[in-house]
Amino acid sequence: MSNRNVLVVLSGPSGVGKGTIAKLLIERNRNVSLSISCTTRKPRDGELNGREYFFIEKSEFISKLEDNGFLEYSEHFDNYYGTPRQFVLDSLKEKDVLLEIDVNGGLEVKKNYPTALLIMIEPPSVEEIRNRLIKRNTESMEKINSRMQRIDYELGKKDLYDYTVVNDDLFTAVEEIENIIKSEKSKI
Ligand code: ADP
Ligand code: 5GP
Repeated sequence: MSNRNVLVVLSGPSGVGKGTIAKLLIERNRNVSLSISCTTRKPRDGELNGREYFFIEKSEFISKLEDNGFLEYSEHFDNYYGTPRQFVLDSLKEKDVLLEIDVNGGLEVKKNYPTALLIMIEPPSVEEIRNRLIKRNTESMEKINSRMQRIDYELGKKDLYDYTVVNDDLFTAVEEIENIIKSEKSKI
């Protein structure tokens, strides 16, 4: 790529605070935008098509996949999630772009886009993730438990990531990520 904008991948277990961090990063930095993934999951209360995700049917997802329309995709909790390739490449012409995706997705992005910066978000403790998912109040206890079972798997791949940031105090974590991006841009 010939521009100076960076593609930043935020990963980490469900409930660790990726969405909250991404929202703050965008509010505080005019040169940062968020990629919107496609998913076959149904919208939660308060979620809007084209804001949190592009909510699409499975058949549409599969046809986009066959057209090489995703930078990466994966299946979680019986639904497909994918990063729309053209949307990201177009956004990168304007700004730094954040992807909020799982570890396998992040590693796949790095293969397809080697200058991507991979940042793993860690919780202060596993129990804190349960507290945050309960507090978020968007999932049944059964779904919370299934998300909890994936924590070790996600965090187990952190050595393959470029950086790890602990989301204990939210603002400290956000500042740390801002500094990482700044330092990475100064190297390009
Ligand atoms: P993810 O996108 O990783 O699934 P969310 O951003 O939805 O996680 O955060 C899960 C819950 O944790 C939300 O209720 C959010 O307000 C809360 N949360 C996020 N970061 C922190 C933090 N640093 N301290 C306390 N609560 C947090
Ligand atoms: P949720 O249903 O809670 O919004 O997301 C479930 C999981 O899907 C989270 O771990 C989230 O990071 C991941 N995810 C969201 N979008 C994408 C995507 O485009 N690609 C991949 N690989 N994972 C995604």
